[in-house]
Amino acid sequence: MATHQLPELDALERIIELGAGQLESRTVASVTLPQGGVYPIHAVLLGNPDKSVPAVGYFGGVHGLERIGAEVVIAYLQSLVMRLQWDSTLHKQLESVRLVFMPIVNPGGMAVGTRANPQGVDLMRNAPISSEESVPFLVGGQRISARLPWYRGAQSAPMEIENQAVCEVVAAELLTRPFSVAVDCHSGFGSRDRIWFPYAHTRACIAHLAEIQALKHIFVQSNSHHRYIFEPQSQQYLAHGDLWDYLYKLSCVQTQGIFLPLTLEMGSWLWVKKNPRQLFSRHGIFNPLIEHRQQRVLRQHQSLLDFLSRAACGHRLWLPHAENRAQFHAQALQDWY
Ligand SMILES: [Zn+2]
Repeated sequence: MATHQLPELDALERIIELGAGQLESRTVASVTLPQGGVYPIHAVLLGNPDKSVPAVGYFGGVHGLERIGAEVVIAYLQSLVMRLQWDSTLHKQLESVRLVFMPIVNPGGMAVGTRANPQGVDLMRNAPISSEESVPFLVGGQRISARLPWYRGAQSAPMEIENQAVCEVVAAELLTRPFSVAVDCHSGFGSRDRIWFPYAHTRACIAHLAEIQALKHIFVQSNSHHRYIFEPQSQQYLAHGDLWDYLYKLSCVQTQGIFLPLTLEMGSWLWVKKNPRQLFSRHGIFNPLIEHRQQRVLRQHQSLLDFLSRAACGHRLWLPHAENRAQFHAQALQDWY
């Protein structure tokens, strides 16, 4: 096995080896750094490949500085692979769900320690979708220069290779099903952990607002001590080029199924407050520096990831139906819009 000087990628490849025979894995694309070094973008697939079963996609490492997002996804995958050796209920569960993992979407950026990919493009500003409302200067996405953060990429250029890899996996494994959820794990915004749903490019609400509300409802019911804030991303800031907005819109026109993409934003300002030294470390603002804190962060989010696979399995039991859909929708409008 090759080593990449990227511990998360080495860990992921070790898990893929450990799970051989029980999971499928493929290299969706490879990223070559200008200074040398080739980094694969892996997808790992578990569970029933039949397109009639629901699916969950777990994504991380889109922003190279936010390593904790990749680590949270890898920790969950590792737990599943280890449990496959003895957990008969897990085997049962995997008969009725497909689980798709892309824990390190931007290995090049992670290797060199940048938010953007090696081309200087912010992958979450790079999708072909623009806001018609006014977005915050720079943060909302800019085409001034790849040397500035939040660069969208050139106007007529195709999507970056990392985003094409995500789109390919989402189109093949999630949008082909009656029901799917995605969760993309990030860190660095605010001091609370947030679960964002589309849109990011407009304050308008998505067509499946009632379904989001119902998902939140069963999560809150079964995790009464949770600390997440659920909200549309537009409630915090608007942005151009959000990949999940793009894929959600695609799902609405291309498929009959329901696709609910979520973003987990792990609030890191609290980590900084407890340890101000982190402000001076480039990695520190986005990642907990102290070992025990890191372990707690990794642990904290496992139940959310596990919840999503169970929620997908049982989607028929909680998705709104004709009689209560309007009620969920109205409640969501009242909460968020
Ligand atoms: Zn991020």
